[in-house]
Amino acid sequence: MAEALKGKPVADAIKAELTKKVDELKGKGITPKLGIIRVGARPDDLFYEGGAKKTCKAVGMDSEVFEYPEDIDQAAFENAVKEVGAKKDVNGILMFSPLPKTLDERKIRTLIPVEKDVDCLTIGGAAKVFTDDPTGFPPCTPKACMEMLDFYNIPIKGKKCVVVGRSLVVGKPMAMLLLREHGTVTICHSRTENLPDVCKEAEILVAAVGRAKMVKGNFVSPGQIVIDVGINADPDNPGRYCGDVDFAEAEPIVEKISPVPAGVGSVTTSVLCKHTILACEMQNK
Ligand code: NAP
Repeated sequence: MAEALKGKPVADAIKAELTKKVDELKGKGITPKLGIIRVGARPDDLFYEGGAKKTCKAVGMDSEVFEYPEDIDQAAFENAVKEVGAKKDVNGILMFSPLPKTLDERKIRTLIPVEKDVDCLTIGGAAKVFTDDPTGFPPCTPKACMEMLDFYNIPIKGKKCVVVGRSLVVGKPMAMLLLREHGTVTICHSRTENLPDVCKEAEILVAAVGRAKMVKGNFVSPGQIVIDVGINADPDNPGRYCGDVDFAEAEPIVEKISPVPAGVGSVTTSVLCKHTILACEMQNK
């Protein structure tokens, strides 16, 4: 039976470290604050927002939600984002995406100050991540995967790492972060040939596909570490969700595997707070 790489102990360890940092900052009269920009009220956004606010509170930092109606026009929303970005007390900004189609999201992302871009929404933020600039913040999800690997003492240096997915929010930055730790990285996508065989060769396999249980038993091999980033509606259990990996098929074969739920997803809001506190420290240097 594979070891389950659960997210909660990782999140708890991060939160303990952050609580100390926030106490130190508060001793200097500084309270880090996360600003959350939300347009409309999608259930997924509200769920994540609730988790982010709870984690902020748990570590002693502030958070504020800036909420706008779905029919807000481009000019008004641009002004709103600029206003939030200019707020001295807001150190990090999370903006839910995608924005309504009536808004030019590409343009709006450019209005977030790079030094407050704690979830890598800006081109400047991505450039920092892709150039290994330590002042940049990777998107919280791939960073959460790295926190998992670190917490469970899984070596990356020299290991064959396969990332399935090449989105800018998960797959590509995940590959960069593994590369930064000297992994030998292969990125797969929908046109990859012989995907099961490529995945089977991995020592560390990261699934970020967005397809329920797509990574089957024939994608994995003994000794593998599998990190499942997926969050999908579970086709076999209505009302529940599952990962990109078919856990029932993969788990008996691999060495360690992160479950869904209770895996990577439990770590992301702690990473969001970590980034905001780091941003706060940099802004107050
Ligand atoms: P995305 O933008 O839809 O990207 C999916 C990637 O998977 C694409 O690069 C796509 O390839 C590739 N892909 C799709 N079908 C494939 C197939 N049959 N074979 C091989 N590759 C395939 O999704 P995302 O935003 O990166 O998210 C990925 C997953 O992570 C989703 O389940 C999402 O819900 C989850 N997620 C989790 C968290 C968390 O906190 N745990 C946060 C964000 C996202 P092409 O580029 O060729 O189309």
